[in-house]
Amino acid sequence: MDKMNYNHSIKCSVTKCSNHAQGDDYCALSQIKVGTHEMNPTDVKCVDCESFRKE
Ligand code: SF4
Repeated sequence: MDKMNYNHSIKCSVTKCSNHAQGDDYCALSQIKVGTHEMNPTDVKCVDCESFRKE
């Protein structure tokens, strides 16, 4: 993973993710997958970045 590959289209503050660009609030992936863990999502907390990987 190239940590200098800031994707300015994907802002993210989850610095504990191994895909985080570090140094600034961006993801380093070219794309991510977002999903939900609920049947009827109603709020921002209902959705998840499914590309998250433990550092
Ligand atoms: S994979 Fe998801 S959680 Fe991880 S840095 Fe990228 S956007 Fe953030």
